[in-house]
Amino acid sequence: EPGLYIVATPIGNLGDITPRATGILRGVAAIACEDTRVTGKLLHHLDISARMIRYDDHASEATRDHLLQIASEQPLALVSDAGTPLISDPGYRLVRAARERGIAVTSLPGPSAAVVALTLAGLPSDRFLFAGFLPSKDKARREVLAELGGVKATLVFYETAPRLLDSLAAIGEGLPGRELAVARELTKKFEECRSGSAADLAAHYAAHPAKGEIVLMIGPPGEAGPPAEADVDAMLLAALATDK
Ligand code: SAM
Repeated sequence: EPGLYIVATPIGNLGDITPRATGILRGVAAIACEDTRVTGKLLHHLDISARMIRYDDHASEATRDHLLQIASEQPLALVSDAGTPLISDPGYRLVRAARERGIAVTSLPGPSAAVVALTLAGLPSDRFLFAGFLPSKDKARREVLAELGGVKATLVFYETAPRLLDSLAAIGEGLPGRELAVARELTKKFEECRSGSAADLAAHYAAHPAKGEIVLMIGPPGEAGPPAEADVDAMLLAALATDK
């Protein structure tokens, strides 16, 4: 079937490719990807030879037109280097343009580091806010933390190993008292998820420099525990007062 197929790929463990994803990648006319070498390795592992076309959101209109032309006549896949396309990865402009032209778009789900991390951290997962990478510049980072710090949800960021200590320091200062978690090398041999305060984690990673790929999470503000008895009384009184 013609159309645009958004295909999630593994974030480390090649066993995480789904049978459906493998089947689609085998059958498409072309695969749009960030880096032909990275996707080439995955295809080689799957024993698939397919035409690859480099694509990112900065691609020219001509490249996008070319891809959409293919997708209007034949199946076209979009993959990123790892994980789910569009999640801190290219693709949204292509999806948008495909939808505007009435081209069928479908998505084959698979791993995304943000969600995998959230399932490991033991932080509240009923509400979370994924905010991509924290800015690398100190001032911008502090602004983002100030902006998001009051949100009653677990905050999820992608992070790089060289910046981890700077980010932990900024969080310790800007959002004191919060519970954090660092998830590293998910689905890989040295997978780790460590929680604690910003100071705890900073001390640990100062002594054992973090390597590899990282998701940094900040638990929601305030105590998650049951309300104190005095608060319950006040809540009941307030409820009675308004219930007239
Ligand atoms: N689209 C991808 C996804 O759905 O997970 C994310 C792409 S983003 C450009 C790459 C970042 O995702 C890395 O810098 C890291 O923060 C995070 N990441 C990717 N794979 C990871 C892994 N195996 N363990 C921890 N974090 C990972």
